[in-house]
Amino acid sequence: MSKKEDSGGKKCSHHTELYAEVPASCLPIVYSPEYNITFMGLEKLHPFDAGKWGKVIRFLKEEQFITDEIIVLAREASEADLLVVHTARYLNRLKWSLVVATITEIPPLLFLPNFLVQRKVLRPLRTQTGGTIMAGKLAIDRGWAINVGGGFHHCSSDKGGGFCAYADITLAIKFLFERVEGVASATIIDLDAHQGNGHERDFLEDRRVYIMDVYNRHIYPGDGYAKRAIKRKVELDWGTEDSEYLQKVDLHSEGALNEARPDIIIYNAGTDILDGDPLGGLAISPQGIIKRDEIIFRAARRRGIPILMVTSGGYQKKTARIIADSILNLHRQGLIGEEALDVAGPSHVSLMMSKSVSSGATLAAI
Ligand SMILES: [Zn+2]
Repeated sequence: MSKKEDSGGKKCSHHTELYAEVPASCLPIVYSPEYNITFMGLEKLHPFDAGKWGKVIRFLKEEQFITDEIIVLAREASEADLLVVHTARYLNRLKWSLVVATITEIPPLLFLPNFLVQRKVLRPLRTQTGGTIMAGKLAIDRGWAINVGGGFHHCSSDKGGGFCAYADITLAIKFLFERVEGVASATIIDLDAHQGNGHERDFLEDRRVYIMDVYNRHIYPGDGYAKRAIKRKVELDWGTEDSEYLQKVDLHSEGALNEARPDIIIYNAGTDILDGDPLGGLAISPQGIIKRDEIIFRAARRRGIPILMVTSGGYQKKTARIIADSILNLHRQGLIGEEALDVAGPSHVSLMMSKSVSSGATLAAI
């Protein structure tokens, strides 16, 4: 009997497709064309660029940083995967179009039969959720990983909201705790403009998880109960600009990582801090966002702590370009890329494996 089966009579871990081997020739950048929400123009009714994930990938290809063959194709999280965190009651509620319309803030979904809501909205979000869980394992294996989607930080085990239907951050951490030897603590650095009340509620009583959250104090969700889970809380005022913001991010990320050295960092890199964002209410420049991401990756890499980045909120038309530019900057700075793979150990030996091997493997690259 394994240790897991002993603890509290818990069942042993279910079978999952999300931890399948990834060819060493792939970069730990996770994406699927399934991420993008397109359906009869419905996506235009939300103040979201619901195709931003695909655009990030297109820009990265144009800059010749990636090709379809060397990124990792995300898989949809199955019901059994979701049940690692979510209650059956919550997943059943998503079978009501009204509930999904409320969570995603797309009211017309209310009038659609649920099978269409599942296929056109929830499946993309489940695929992004699968991507975050996959990227968690990749981050441990390779030292870093980026899910081009995910970051649904308002969703907790029993409640969705603010466009977040699945608790991908909580799931990624719980999968690691359950399945990966040597991963027993995590730090969430949540730099989206909104408070990350979903993972905060999920880890309220869990001392293994240290949460740092930097957000606009005046906007959604203002969840006072969830705030009790934040170890390092940085509340910002309307219109906060680059110099103050970057100084605080630098100071507090250093402080957080000095206070508790985790086995993994989950970096929620929301870009709704961008000046002009209709929801975020802050005034950070594109250059400020790029610098911010660099600060966090540098802090993680310097300490040798694996880092998983998810892209979270931020859906202005120019957002995708900024995310792509930031990823390119991380590469230019030597913080991600093949040189970063050098620290990954023996798997690097097979880095130059032929592409035909990777495309025939369990996890196909797109
Ligand atoms: Zn946000």
